[in-house]
Amino acid sequence: MSDTREIPTYPCASGNAILPVAPRPRRSRQARVVWGPRVVTVGGDAPVRVQSMTNTDTEDAVATAIQVKELAQAGSEVVRITVNTPEAAQQVPYIREQLDRMGVDVPLIGDFHYNGHRLLTEYPGCAEALSKYRINPGNVGKGDKHDRQFSQMVEAALRWDKPVRIGVNWGSLDQELLARMMDENSLRPEPWEAKSVMYEALVTSAVDSARRAVELGMDPAQVLLSCKVSGVQDLIAVYRELASRCDHPLHLGLTEAGMGAKGTVASSVALGILLQEGIGDTIRVSLTPQPGEARTQEVVVASEILQSLGLRVFVPSVTACPGCGRTTSTTFQELAKQIDDFLRMQMPVWRKRYPGVEHLKVAVMGCIVNGPGESKHADIGISLPGTGEAPAAPVFIDGEKALTLRGAGIATEFQQIVETYIEKRFGAHGSHQAAA
Ligand code: SF4
Repeated sequence: MSDTREIPTYPCASGNAILPVAPRPRRSRQARVVWGPRVVTVGGDAPVRVQSMTNTDTEDAVATAIQVKELAQAGSEVVRITVNTPEAAQQVPYIREQLDRMGVDVPLIGDFHYNGHRLLTEYPGCAEALSKYRINPGNVGKGDKHDRQFSQMVEAALRWDKPVRIGVNWGSLDQELLARMMDENSLRPEPWEAKSVMYEALVTSAVDSARRAVELGMDPAQVLLSCKVSGVQDLIAVYRELASRCDHPLHLGLTEAGMGAKGTVASSVALGILLQEGIGDTIRVSLTPQPGEARTQEVVVASEILQSLGLRVFVPSVTACPGCGRTTSTTFQELAKQIDDFLRMQMPVWRKRYPGVEHLKVAVMGCIVNGPGESKHADIGISLPGTGEAPAAPVFIDGEKALTLRGAGIATEFQQIVETYIEKRFGAHGSHQAAA
């Protein structure tokens, strides 16, 4: 039988080295979000910042302060709280006071809709205790009230020397602006698709509001912008345009991303693509917590996005294989999870005690196929025995096989080995300190 398959052609190697890729830079102006001596820079040459938002009732100052503390400890560099009622505005200084008393200096951002102009004017304690105000131009009033109420919020920011984020959201887009742009579109010789008009309305709302804030006296660097939508491709289209039309620092996030895997994947894909293009100076992952899930999960995901892209390093990384038919016991999954949880839980303390520990690389592998190789690439790695292999787990430290663990206590012993390694390398007298 003759072989009629077409043999594909494989072009020769170009001879050029394959270079690593890195996110493209987009140099924006730099905002300063300040509380006391704590200054969080956003934009310019600052690292991309992680932020989050509470879901407690702001009128409950204790619950809100506790959640802000949890989010800050998880790595959120600024935390937003909703300020929706006079009672909530009254509580803001007490929330701030409690945080200060607990030694939590994370700057607070006030999220305002509909009545922000009144709350910021009538509750000066609230205006002072917040470090940034979020203004939604779609929710500051209609008709002739729009400009007046927007101005009142900007005037409060000027009075208290605070930055603002002009946060447009397509769920609350300025309907008068959209209607006007739809009318204008219908007069075009070749009208745009409705979606393109929507994109343009989002960007125009943000940019025109920024211009107005600057005309009122805001330093352009202190005006951050966002244009949030809930579709991945929509977000990419809108932010590319927004980034091309201004140099304000950009707050990036996929709004209403959803729950669990869907929300995590959609946010990661959308933010990852834009961050790789240099777009985004601070990110928020808007996850709906699953029942029983901690609010801090959104901070974990945001941090992982930045760490995966090589933009930031927050926690030691644990490389684990997915497991396969060679790993029939659950020991390997349990150990990978145990080590990952252990490293994360220790980080609030370790960050201060072991400077540089976030660069640690740990590998937990399921069998001999890739186990020893991957473990040698890590600072410290373990290759667990797969099905049919001798019940022994070689441990590799700094690329060399250091010892072999056996028996039921492998997990506990490996955790102790990791801790000892960290103390030795990153502790006060460790090699990392000596090298530094
Ligand atoms: S390292 Fe071994 S257990 Fe893990 S996925 Fe590869 S073959 Fe399977």
